[in-house]
Amino acid sequence: MLNIVLFGPPGAGKGTQSAKLIDQYHLVHLSTGDIFRANIKGGTELGVLAKSFIDKGQLVPDEVTIGMLSSEVNKSPEARGFIFDGFPRTSAQAEALDTLLKEKGTSISMMLALEVEEEELRKRLLIRGKDSGRADDQDPVVIQKRIDVYNGETMPVKAYYEAQGKYHGIQGIGEIEDIFKALCAEIDKG
Ligand code: ADP
Repeated sequence: MLNIVLFGPPGAGKGTQSAKLIDQYHLVHLSTGDIFRANIKGGTELGVLAKSFIDKGQLVPDEVTIGMLSSEVNKSPEARGFIFDGFPRTSAQAEALDTLLKEKGTSISMMLALEVEEEELRKRLLIRGKDSGRADDQDPVVIQKRIDVYNGETMPVKAYYEAQGKYHGIQGIGEIEDIFKALCAEIDKG
């Protein structure tokens, strides 16, 4: 299986590149942000809970997020592989993902990290807020909180995969197509 963690700060372009990668490599895309938003839209219990954290720019608690992710993985037993987008975002999530995949006789193949500096992220998120209507992209205070949470809680996940020799950084500024080619080149190297 080809199991990729697509990593990067909010606004780095993970969603855009995931859409292209799943077409190219026929993988199942699991975006925890998208799943939470679908639950919010559907008014589920999970959605109500997630919204209370997302609106403040905080992470949804690990226990909830890990449980949800596990059940999504279990829904695709025939998958050729997965793109994990927005997960893992904490060290506990990274460990849980390793355990889950191990139980299935597989593992993470690589982490591809989109590298974009903070000033550019702030600009992109405010534009996305106007275009998409996402509430968490419209408030500069919430945006800054998400960037801070990324630097504090999510950055250690990079070291987790570095220690396994699986980390690959990719310049996330430039043409979408050029960034996509750089990602494909890393994947094709294996
Ligand atoms: P972005 O990468 O632009 O911040 P996402 O759509 O990935 O957007 O996530 C939106 C929000 O959903 C996050 O700010 C967070 O509150 C919640 N979320 C998404 N993934 C996770 C996760 N793995 N763990 C905890 N919370 C998450």
